[in-house]
Amino acid sequence: MPTTYPATEIAALNARFEDATPQEIVGWAVEEFGARLAVGASFGGASGMAILHMAAQLRPSIHVFVLDTGYLFEETHQTMREAVPALGMTNVRSYRSPLTHEEQAERYGSALWMRDPDLCCELRKIEPNRRALEGMDAWLTGLRRDQSENRADTPIVSWAPKFGVLKVNPLANWNEAQTWSYLLANGVPYNPLLNQGYTSIGCYNCTVPGVQGRAGRWQGFEKDECGLHT
Ligand code: SF4
Repeated sequence: MPTTYPATEIAALNARFEDATPQEIVGWAVEEFGARLAVGASFGGASGMAILHMAAQLRPSIHVFVLDTGYLFEETHQTMREAVPALGMTNVRSYRSPLTHEEQAERYGSALWMRDPDLCCELRKIEPNRRALEGMDAWLTGLRRDQSENRADTPIVSWAPKFGVLKVNPLANWNEAQTWSYLLANGVPYNPLLNQGYTSIGCYNCTVPGVQGRAGRWQGFEKDECGLHT
């Protein structure tokens, strides 16, 4: 695993890909990193499904990982069950915290997400994400600049020091309409909650419908990121 990536190379890649299509960027990443490229999949948002489709078309055996916090909506599990065979993905693994919900409650108190969602996300998402990316060189995500103010400056390529990999965000330049056009044109399965007023889907404890984008997450907290991308 590289310990970092030269800043000049990252700048050159960003300049090269600023006007490239997401498919071209995914194609480059698959070619460049081969079996050491991973895709993080939430089976929640539309852009994640688009990335999965693009990547699986080129490499069905790509390492796809799911952070199963134990608080995922049943619709999210259902989407996974439907999409994995539909997209022909052959290497999908779930990663969970070693702490059961009961052990977490014993150690940190009940309903941690209502008191310290950063710690809850650290335990149930960040730590499993670290394990999912062990041995990998690069990580494909579905981040888009139009998803929130915090994501407005998302580069196409950046070094992720928290995980020691190159992070590639092929959809950074796409908007929501482009993402949905892609999903519908290609018949990609998506989470049915997206038809029920949810626009950003994470854990059921921390997600509400009827609020646009990531503002529907962690209501009541100054937080719209779980920490994977910050
Ligand atoms: S999104 Fe909520 S329930 Fe899920 S890990 Fe983060 S704080 Fe915990």
